[in-house]
Amino acid sequence: MLRPPSQRPLTLSARAEALQPSLTLAIAAKAKALKAEGHNICSLSAGEPDFDTPGFIRDAAAAALQSGHTRYGPAAGEPALRAAIAAKLSSENQVPTQPDQVLVTNGGKQALYNLFQVLLGPGDEVLLPSPYWLSYPEIARLAGASVQVLPSSSADGFRIDPAQLEAAITPASKLLVLNSPSNPTGMVLSRSDFEAIAAVLRRHPQMAVVCDEIYEFLLEPGLQHHSLAAVAPDLADRIFSVNGFAKGWAMTGWRIGWLAGNSAVLKAAIALQSQSTSNVCSFAQFGALAAIEASRDCVHAMAEQFNTRRRLLSDGLQAISGLQLHPPQGAFYAFPDMRSSGLDSMSFCNRLLDEQGLAVVPGVAFGDDHCIRLSCAANEATIEDGLARLERFLRSL
Ligand code: PLP
Repeated sequence: MLRPPSQRPLTLSARAEALQPSLTLAIAAKAKALKAEGHNICSLSAGEPDFDTPGFIRDAAAAALQSGHTRYGPAAGEPALRAAIAAKLSSENQVPTQPDQVLVTNGGKQALYNLFQVLLGPGDEVLLPSPYWLSYPEIARLAGASVQVLPSSSADGFRIDPAQLEAAITPASKLLVLNSPSNPTGMVLSRSDFEAIAAVLRRHPQMAVVCDEIYEFLLEPGLQHHSLAAVAPDLADRIFSVNGFAKGWAMTGWRIGWLAGNSAVLKAAIALQSQSTSNVCSFAQFGALAAIEASRDCVHAMAEQFNTRRRLLSDGLQAISGLQLHPPQGAFYAFPDMRSSGLDSMSFCNRLLDEQGLAVVPGVAFGDDHCIRLSCAANEATIEDGLARLERFLRSL
C-alpha cells in the first residue's frame, strides 16, 4: 500500500518571521468592526487625503487607457514622465536632475524599498530619527540592515540634533533617513536644520541620505520646503529623494512615486524593479504626467484646506488639558504627548475607541509610546467631534 509522503509543515523565511504586523491596521480593523455593529465611530486615523483625484488627472489616465497604453512599458517608467519628474526636481526643488536619475515606482514606498535593497545589506546600519514613519525600520530590516533610532520628543519640537546625529554615526552607518514634513509629527526641517545636518555628513563620507519629501506641498503658510541636495549640492551624489503623487495630488490608490539621485545607484534600482514588479501601470503614468506638468493650483487648493483643518486640530488639542502638543507645521497629522494619562499608547487608543468611539493611531507604531497620532484628513465637523470625544476621555480618567 502506498503511504503518503511525510508532510513537512511549510516554514516561513527568517525575513518574513521578523516582519512586524501593522499596529495601525489592528486599530483600523477594530474601528471598522465596531462601525459595522452599528456603533457611532469617529475616525481621525486616516493616512490619506479625503479628496478625490482632480478630474483633469483622471481624464488624462482614461484617455491614455482608451488610446491603447495598455502594454508593458520600460521598467524605469514612461520616458515622458521621467523627464517631467527630472524637470520638476531641477526647477521646483533646485536639484539639477537628468531623466536617467529618476525611477518611477509603485508609490513612494517602493522607491524606499528599492533604494534600501540596492544600498543596504547585513552589517549596514540605518540611522532613523524618531518618531518615524512606521515602514522605514521594516523596509531596512528586510534589506538585512540594522536600525539605530535617534530619539527626539515633543518637548524639543521633534527636531534632529546634529550633535546627537554625529555621536550616533559608526563605521557601519550607511544611510540616514530624513522625512520633512514628517509623518507622524508634522515637524518641518528649516534650511538651517539641513545645513547643520549637511555639515555632519561632510565629515562622514561613507554615509548616504534619503529624503522622503512626500508631504512637500503640505506646509503652514510662510514655510518653505527645502531639498537637501539644493542646500548642499556638494553632497548631491549621496542624497536620494523619494516622493510621489499620493499626498500632494490626492492619488494614493494610483501607486505612483519616484526615486531620484545618483545614476549608478538608480541603475541598480531599475534593474531590481525590472526583476520584481516591472513598470508601474502604463496608463496611470499618463495621469501622473498630466498632474506634474500642470500648474500647482489644485495642489495648493487642497493644501489650503489642510492648513485650515490642521489649525483646527492643533488649536483644539492645545486647549485640552492632559496633552502636550508641539504644533505641527506640515503634513496632515498632529502627535500630542499624552503621558500624563499614565497609559501606554496602545492601551490609550484601545480604551479611547472602546469608551468614546474615537479611532486614532498609537504612537508606539512610530517609535514613541508617549504619543498618539491624529489625522486632519477629515472634514471639520469630524475633527471637532473627535476633539470632543478625546477631551471627554481624558476627563474620565
Ligand atoms: N512616506 C511617508 C512619510 C508616508 O507617510 C507614506 C504614506 O503614508 C509614504 C512614504 C508612502 O507613500 P505612497 O503611497 O506613495 O507609497
